[in-house]
Amino acid sequence: MGALSGVGVGRGIAVAKVLRMPEPLSPPSDEPLAADPASELERVRAALAEVAEELGARAAAAGGDAQQVLEAAALMAQDPAVLDDVRSRLEAGANAERATWDAYAAFREMLTAMGGYMAERAADLDDVAQRVVARLRGVPAPGVPVSDEPFILVARDLAPADTATLDLATTLALVTQDGGPTSHTAILARSKSLPAVVGVTGLLDAVADGQLVIVDARAGTVELDPDEASVRAARAEREARLAAASAPITEGALADGTKVPLLANVGSPKDAPAAVELGAEGVGLFRTEFLFLDASSAPSVEEQTAAYTELLRAFPGKKVIARVLDAGADKPLPFLNDAHEENPALGLRGIRALRASEQILRDQLTALAAAQAATDAELHVMAPMIADREETAYFVGLGKELGLRTVGAMAEVPSIAVLADQVLEVADFVSIGTNDLTQYTMAADRQLGSVAALQDPWHPAVLRLVKMLGDAGAAAGKPVGVCGEAAADPALAVVLVGLGVTSLSMSAPAIADVRAELLTVTLDEARERARRALEATSPAGARHAAAAQ
Ligand code: PEP
Ligand code: MG
Repeated sequence: MGALSGVGVGRGIAVAKVLRMPEPLSPPSDEPLAADPASELERVRAALAEVAEELGARAAAAGGDAQQVLEAAALMAQDPAVLDDVRSRLEAGANAERATWDAYAAFREMLTAMGGYMAERAADLDDVAQRVVARLRGVPAPGVPVSDEPFILVARDLAPADTATLDLATTLALVTQDGGPTSHTAILARSKSLPAVVGVTGLLDAVADGQLVIVDARAGTVELDPDEASVRAARAEREARLAAASAPITEGALADGTKVPLLANVGSPKDAPAAVELGAEGVGLFRTEFLFLDASSAPSVEEQTAAYTELLRAFPGKKVIARVLDAGADKPLPFLNDAHEENPALGLRGIRALRASEQILRDQLTALAAAQAATDAELHVMAPMIADREETAYFVGLGKELGLRTVGAMAEVPSIAVLADQVLEVADFVSIGTNDLTQYTMAADRQLGSVAALQDPWHPAVLRLVKMLGDAGAAAGKPVGVCGEAAADPALAVVLVGLGVTSLSMSAPAIADVRAELLTVTLDEARERARRALEATSPAGARHAAAAQ
């Protein structure tokens, strides 16, 4: 028995044996061939056939985009030109692993030189080569392991390509040694409602294939070799948490009945049906720029009116908060941004870019007002990257002039928290974008893995800014919501409410877990957790302090 800890994602719990993700293979040695080339060629031929068969079977099971990629890889494994090349290399004295490795490398170069679609497929050859060499070596193939039995996947970290082939029917939880709360693994886990613990120091040295573990995402722990009583308790807890997560959809509320509306983040009207089905009480962030990422010129008022009306129609009588175009940095729009800024995150982004091209902003607000008039959703409109009262007054003034009823500001730049009382004199509401608020508070680029540890919304510096905004909202009697990733972390959601946040918006699959967690605390308890987290000196300390009973 023993336990490891890391950062939990979600609130699920799972009990199963571990399957480790194999480490990438080391390149083969250059030792000359000691065996007979003809028998070695047969060994390679058999390995190629087995890999082709395995990839073909996985393709059939995968379906969709993954099926096509895997089918193409299966064909590559059987390419006769590769086997011919292996034969020549064996005859020239290379060992079987080296001959196979180099034959695929040459094939890869040829495809890359052809350009276009063939060049795109070239990277898949590395995976095929690794699989064939793994067979020759008698070790597990790299990539996500497959099993008929349910298992817990243990890995150093997961790449986007790995996650495409993850079998959700048998993968009960993810545990990684690297990665933080915003890593790819964490985002995937959240979107699939899979329990996960990431950033587990010492994981790969401590856990072996086949070892029984209990993964508790809420506690952020991985218990090794649990005894029978712990397994029974964990299984019962799993049933209870699954039942809570699939409990009938109710409005977001705390145990004492305090209402906390749970809203969805969407990027297109197409996201609306899933959001409604998962119990979103409205939309807390409609990222309008997602509709126009590929556009080379500004969209017309008519085109925008049609898209906004379509979304609003899905939420009759409900709140929908649309954000005007957030162009720049991680979401550049060619018709609004200058591609030559050296530091785009600190440049003409969000409201700054819109102000510099005011007609585009006017057109968008006009389209939003038309959608408001055409539907009975309760439309709110907000601007990203607002820094102070002057920018707020500019945006609110323009929005009202063009016919919008409720106009507010996003809190993403730390200055807005410091000046929250002034901003709330003019804004109808504030919504905190914790992704950018964390990036700018910690001066840590949200796209850079090297500073991921600083990109943590549990940082007490971020929490203190949230409190300033929550206090100012309460004093002004105006709503202060959260629409960044932080709202999707159930334990943090409780703390945010304790800091004065009045609604939470997140990707729709996260709503069930957050709803269940909120129901476990009263407002006084949430405030007490928030108070303890604010006193911590690190993100880990804040998590720990909030969890302590
Ligand atoms: C945020 O910054 O938290 C936010 C919700 O906006 P985006 O992630 O789209 O920048
Ligand atoms: Mg943002």
